[in-house]
Amino acid sequence: MRTFVGTFVFPETGEVNTGALVVEEGRVVAFEKKAPAKGERVALSGFVVPGLIDAHVHLSFSGGPDPVAEMEAEPKEATLLRAAGYLRAYLKAGVTAVRDLGSRDGMAVGLAYAVEKGLIPGPRVVAAGLVLTPTGGHGHRHGVEVDGPDAVRRAARGEFKRGARALKLMATGGVMTPGVEAGAPMFEEEELRAGAREAEKRGAPSAAHAQGLFGIKAALRAGVKTIEHGAFDRWDEEAFRLFKQKSALLVPTLAAPDGILRGEGVPAFMVEKTKKIAERHRENTLEAWRAGVTIAAGTDAGTPHNPHPNLARELELLAALGVPLEDVLRAATVHAARALGMEGAIGTLEPGAWADLAVLGENPLRTARAYRRVEAVFKAGTPLHPA
Ligand SMILES: [Zn+2]
Repeated sequence: MRTFVGTFVFPETGEVNTGALVVEEGRVVAFEKKAPAKGERVALSGFVVPGLIDAHVHLSFSGGPDPVAEMEAEPKEATLLRAAGYLRAYLKAGVTAVRDLGSRDGMAVGLAYAVEKGLIPGPRVVAAGLVLTPTGGHGHRHGVEVDGPDAVRRAARGEFKRGARALKLMATGGVMTPGVEAGAPMFEEEELRAGAREAEKRGAPSAAHAQGLFGIKAALRAGVKTIEHGAFDRWDEEAFRLFKQKSALLVPTLAAPDGILRGEGVPAFMVEKTKKIAERHRENTLEAWRAGVTIAAGTDAGTPHNPHPNLARELELLAALGVPLEDVLRAATVHAARALGMEGAIGTLEPGAWADLAVLGENPLRTARAYRRVEAVFKAGTPLHPA
């Protein structure tokens, strides 16, 4: 038994309480006013929050100006080694879980395995393996091209067979594939439904890359659990209603357009496409929050000038929009845990959860800058930073 004594911030209620978090075999068993007499005691200064979660990363992309070209120019082994380095950096930033939504050869599945087996240090990785996209669709150069519900079903089963724990489907076009219109529909609703169903059967989250409204609604109707980006057209009431009806989450990834527009050397076609959608993207995110849509924090880290880790930036951008700091914290903890299909197991300090903790130098309910000052990190009650 190990007891953590300090000031804890509870995301569900927004309460800040000083006391003792009792941990046994890596999991929280209780929160008490006073530490029990027996067992080891760890005193923490600062503000303790559940380990932070990034619900959308690409571990095989570097976050350089042109990550796809960079990756294609290097051997696969180099990509893998780079990704292992990013995992270490995530821990230092207080991020104890990530969801990878598409990697080179699906290698994030192997990284997830390596972390789980203790071969390399890193946050928990929930990996989607290869993305599924229609022939010639967004992300086709590094995904599986499939057409029709049967083919989607087979490919989804294949990804789960090799160890994926999430499924990524392309509901619309995107910024990073040349010649593909960003908001244009990709998979048909029946195809999305076939994929979402395969994920649901395994208790795994399905995620749709969806920018245009038509694709967003199709994905929601099809039962896809998380909508990634949501950047294009202005949303209507039906879209907000579908989100709530289906208990779906929005993962806006504000850090992605932010990086493309702020940095230099990004391929011109990406900058042009991003310019068209950036403003709408921010407005949609805020309007969705106002309408009661649940927002989970994800960065799309690995895309241009969107480095690993970049969750602090995403949280600053959400706060800058006007999302209250309580909801910013929820986005990176309880809500992101749902996006990973790990509700109750991570992203909370409630009994039964893994004792994944990030100790921040400032109160995150006072300033979003708090996420820049991570002083200590624990995973399942074990100190990982400083090691
Ligand atoms: Zn992405």
